[in-house]
Parts: sequence; C-alpha cells; structure tokens
Amino acid sequence: MSELVRDAAGVLARLDALRAADPPTHGGHVLSYVYDSGLAALDELAAAAIRAVQPVNGLDPTTFGSVAVLEAELVGFVRELLHGDEEVVGSVTTGGTESCLLAVKTAREVWRAAHPHGVPRLVAPSTVHAAFQKAAAYFGLDLDLVPVGSDGAVAAADVVARLGDDVALVVLSAPNYPFAALDPVGAVASACAAHGIPLHVDACIGGLVLPFWTDAAGAPLPDWDFRVPGVTSVSADLHKFGYAPKGASVLLQRGRDRQRHQFFATTRWPGYPVVNPTILGSKSAGPLAAAWAITQALGVDGFAALATSCARSTARLREAIDGIEGLRVVGEPVGPLLAVAADERVPADRRVDPHHWADAVRAHGFVLQLQPALAQPGGAALPATTHLTITPVTESVLAPLTAALVAGADAVRGTPHVDGAALLAQLPPLGPVAAALDADALDADTAWALLQGFGIGGGAELPDAQAPLVALIETLPAPLAERLLVELLGRLVEPRPAR
Ligand SMILES: *Cc1c(COP(=O)(O)O)cnc(C)c1O
Repeated sequence: MSELVRDAAGVLARLDALRAADPPTHGGHVLSYVYDSGLAALDELAAAAIRAVQPVNGLDPTTFGSVAVLEAELVGFVRELLHGDEEVVGSVTTGGTESCLLAVKTAREVWRAAHPHGVPRLVAPSTVHAAFQKAAAYFGLDLDLVPVGSDGAVAAADVVARLGDDVALVVLSAPNYPFAALDPVGAVASACAAHGIPLHVDACIGGLVLPFWTDAAGAPLPDWDFRVPGVTSVSADLHKFGYAPKGASVLLQRGRDRQRHQFFATTRWPGYPVVNPTILGSKSAGPLAAAWAITQALGVDGFAALATSCARSTARLREAIDGIEGLRVVGEPVGPLLAVAADERVPADRRVDPHHWADAVRAHGFVLQLQPALAQPGGAALPATTHLTITPVTESVLAPLTAALVAGADAVRGTPHVDGAALLAQLPPLGPVAAALDADALDADTAWALLQGFGIGGGAELPDAQAPLVALIETLPAPLAERLLVELLGRLVEPRPAR
C-alpha cells in the first residue's frame, strides 16, 4: 500500500516553496508574531520533541500518561516562576487566547453560582488584549472597558471605581500588548479582594520574561504575580517568551475549587465520558512536549539569560528611537516591547508618522507592526503607533535594525498621517458612502466589491504600503471595518483546486 503515498518529495518541495514566500521567521527581521531565542539547538530540540509525540492524542492523559507528566511538570515550572504556592494549579492550553477565554469562562461559572440572575460584567482597561473582547462575546459578559491615559497607563482608582456586585472578573495586564504598560496590579488586587471579586493578570506576553525584568533604574518591578494576594489567575504564553512553537500557553488558577469551574464534563451521551479541562477535545501534544523540552533544557537560568538579552536590546532600541527626531516611545514600557508614536512636540514638518515609518522600515528589510489610533469612549485619544517586540535574536541584528529605523524615519519625516476620510472620498465606487453603510446588512459579495474598490484583494495579494489600510480602519465605523476584515480573511482561504 505504500504506493498510495505519491511523490512525498514533490509535496514537500511545494511546501518549501510556499514557506519561502513567507516573511523570515528567524533572524530577527520580523518584530511581532515570532519569538526567536536565536538558539538553533533549542529549535532542533523542540522539533524533536514534537516528533516524539506526533501521534499522541492530548485529549486523554489517562490513556497517554506521558501527556499528564509533561503538563504537570510544565505547569509546575511556570507556577514556580510566578510565585504560586501549592494552592495554585493550572492547565496547558493552545495559546494566549484560549487561556484568556478560560479565565473568563471560569469567572463566569463562579459568578453564576452565586448570582442565578443577571448578566455578569468584565472590567478591564481599554488596552486589555482583544482576546477578552472575544471572551465577553463568546461567554455573554458585558465588557466594561476603562479608558487609559494617552500614555497607555490606567489609573488604579479608575478601575476600582467600576467594581460592583455584577463584576465577575477584573483583568489587568503584565504588561499590555499595545503600549507595554504594567497595570497597577497591587492596588487593584486589594480592592478586588475586599469586594470578593476575582482578578486575572494577563501575562501572556510578559509571563516568562518579566520575572527577570527591572525598571529603568534597575530596581525590581512592583509585584504583579501570585505574590499579590488578590490575584486569582494568571495567563502566560509559552509560545511567546517561552520560545515554544505556536500552540502552548499556561493558565494558572489560585485554588482547586475555583479551577474546577474551568472544566467541562459530560457522561450524558452514548460515547466515551468527556472531561475537558480546556476548550479543545482531541488535541496535539506537540507544542506541549516542545515547550516542556525547552523549559527542561533552559531551566530558570537559561530563561534569565535570554530575558537579559531582550532587556539590553530593548534599552538600545529605546535609546535609538529617542534619538530619532520626530518619533517618541509612548509611556513607560515594561518588558521587551515598545510602541512608537509621532512626536507632537516638534513641528509637523519634522514629525515622523509611525505608519509611514513602518512601511519605510519594511523597505529596509525589517517588519514592524502598525497599531491604529483609537478614540476611547469617555477617555483620551490613543495615538497611532508602531509596535516592536524585541526577542533574544534582536541582539544579533541591532546595528542593521537601528540603521533601518533611522533611514526609514529620514525617508518619511514630514509626511502626514494618511487622511482616511480623504482616501475614502476618492475610492470608487462605494468609497464615498462607505462610512454610512450598515455593516449588518452587508452581504459577502458587496463587502468583497467594497474591498476591491479599496484596491485590496484583487489578486489575493495585500498591498505593500499598510499605512493607507490602517487609515481606513481608523476612519470607518468599527462594525464596518470589522465586517470588511472578516470578508478579507474569508476570501483569502476560498477553496481552490489543489495543484
Ligand atoms: C499574545 C497575547 C494574548 C493572546 O495570545 P495568542 O497566543 O495570540 O492567542 C493575550 N494577551 C496578551 C497580553 C498578549 O500579548
């Protein structure tokens, strides 16, 4: 039967060709999405670990005992790093989003047990990761977003002012993704504890690096993990600064009784008894095994050394950006990420628009991430920014990266931010009326026509310059922008005949 497997070499050659067209996932040229330790041996180890568990089903650790051991040891490693005591238990999930979803799901079940009627509320700064918007939408909570300052920092008192009997969960970030602000965990936690309200700390990005971080003056950070008594759960992604392949995160919860609400179990069907600690049923053990192998090989000292490399690079890049006329780093970032905005203190013709900058830096071989400006209801306007995530590999490209940041700024200094409204007015045929369209009433074909009118999606290739795209997102009403993005992603994977 082996002849059934046709041309494996050709299949893999096609896969290689497709991969070759992707942005480089190694080498420090993409400053978001990928977290490169810079250690080839670590990637080899992770690959071998995935291979070793390739056929295993993570669904059932009672059948595949290896999965239970790997998960218990991995959760134990992260618990120790985040100062959890023996009351803290946890699960490995497939990623930050799943960890965040489960933190919210748990809190909803706990709240419902005490409040049979009503709709629970989720309170968080507006900078909280979008995964919590998703969680509120999936699990039926009212999302109550607290405006942050224009520096991306939230005031503890503004969060505390929102506490009430209907609040099922407060979420803070360590740090938040858009601006890298470390939220005021201590002050909010004591208020939450006094009200009996659980507090989740989303350390998806910071969880494996902040334990080794200091503030700008070299002093320890304020406590943000399980050392803070009111913190009831923490999420930390292994596929970010745990350097694991995608598909691994940890959700830690304080208290077994609390954590059991995370699970789903049923014996009420004619098949096998179902007990799922996380959202998936059958699941790969690959990312779990890879993440476990990495923690075994690196140990705490290895993670500390890699975090220190990130800290050195972050400081150097911050200095470099501070030295570029027309740009400024937003707020007081804590951790290996930076948000960069136009410096409003210099005259307009000396300012550098962060989105044109990102496009120009891309032409110099480094991919940065554009973040749209956001109007917070009842709060300050948040500036358009460009995001950089710094990883250990960054240290090996600091000189060319810094040169690209400088050259990119020089190329676009004085060019104003794209005027989204003016852009819309020029676009055929629906552009001028786009903002008035009802997103709910838009069918797939009209949405697609609109996108094509914007010059997006003709040949399924996204345009090189992203500044105009983000300007459209900033300008269109959010429901319409969201509907168009759904259309774009849906069309990207329209079924095609296999080649
Ligand atoms: C990345 C991230 C998430 C979501 O994680 P995914 O792994 O992308 O699903 C949640 N919170 C923060 C702060 C993050 O940085």
